[in-house]
Amino acid sequence: MTKTTKETRRKNNSRTRFVHAGRRPSDQYGFVNTPVYRGSTVLFESAEAFQSLDQPYTYGTKGTPTTRALEEAWSEIAGAELSVATSSGLAAIALALMTAAKAGDHVLAADSAYQPTRIFCDGVLKRFGVETEYYDPRIGAGISGLIRQNTSAVVAESPGSLSMEIQDVPAIAKAAAERGVCVILDNTWATPLFFPAHEHGVDISVEAGTKYLSGHADLLMGLVSANKAWAKRLRATYDAFAMCPGGDDAYLALRGLRTMELRMREQQGAGLALAKWLEEREEVSRMLHPALPSHPDHALWNRDFRGAAGLFSVILKPTPKEAVSAFLNRLELFGIGYSWGGYESLVIPFDCSRSRTATEWKAEGPGLRFSVGLEDVADLQADLEAGFAAMKNAASSGR
Ligand SMILES: *Cc1c(COP(=O)(O)O)cnc(C)c1O
Repeated sequence: MTKTTKETRRKNNSRTRFVHAGRRPSDQYGFVNTPVYRGSTVLFESAEAFQSLDQPYTYGTKGTPTTRALEEAWSEIAGAELSVATSSGLAAIALALMTAAKAGDHVLAADSAYQPTRIFCDGVLKRFGVETEYYDPRIGAGISGLIRQNTSAVVAESPGSLSMEIQDVPAIAKAAAERGVCVILDNTWATPLFFPAHEHGVDISVEAGTKYLSGHADLLMGLVSANKAWAKRLRATYDAFAMCPGGDDAYLALRGLRTMELRMREQQGAGLALAKWLEEREEVSRMLHPALPSHPDHALWNRDFRGAAGLFSVILKPTPKEAVSAFLNRLELFGIGYSWGGYESLVIPFDCSRSRTATEWKAEGPGLRFSVGLEDVADLQADLEAGFAAMKNAASSGR
């Protein structure tokens, strides 16, 4: 049986931590994994115990051994004071914002943020009297010029959804800390493995566990982690909403966690190999992959990140819509669908031009976003090659 103290675990490198975090075999007869607890009611031994609520578990929404194992594991991996699990990544973002903002406040959000984050800000937050202002994701320390008396949070996402801008999170965090503003980061792409958010000054970090933590396209999950300053407020807000995942989903997240480091390293390598290959293709105008030297924010990525996810975007040279459709339809290994981070490769077409308000999205051709799975890279390359042939065919027959 593994007997690791908190101290030895902290010293372990990240691979070991992903394997051992949050596990307590001695609490479950030696079985390696924390089992699924499904439960609403928790019984109390006596009237006195009921009145004092003095036991580890009191009601399903307050946590079960399964959800707590996940939260403890995530805190350890994220270097956080506290983590809570939510029923989706978007629920995690909503929770982080509801933790930091109140009526009358002003929130700054990156113009490149995940689209549903914008919808939440412009809809629900606005309805509750919180104004959201969008900022250029490349603003860095310049964020201080936008901070007002009533600014309560800066929302960052690095790299940005679809468009992949890397943000200078340490500079933003420094400016925000000077003015007592909470920094919220959507860290779904890098995860704590490749970007230790709290070390870089982030107060509340959000992860869509639906992506790399799940890794198998069978789970919706969110995690919110907080540093010391924000842990209490996060806990209180979470308890008020009770947006808790079920035991089965918490179990799947824990199962995904054990291989997450391995999968991410593999997908990093495969993603880079494909991105480099794509960069040489005549159909491609430019790559949006921060680990490539051609990326405008490559130096920033190099300074702050410990690795790259297998998710990147491509801007094609001007290509008719039907030819892009022919490319997508011809692919056999890359599925067309939302989400990413699973074992199977995915692709979607995108255009950010209608979702920007603080910056202008300029693209000379259609955008494609690829999530590289765990297939053989040569097979994926052959699939794309066939797609490009179909694209060429459709373009010439449409002329
Ligand atoms: C997918 C995603 C989310 C939301 O996760 P869901 O579990 O699908 O709600 C949040 N942020 C980013 C960057 C994402 O890609």
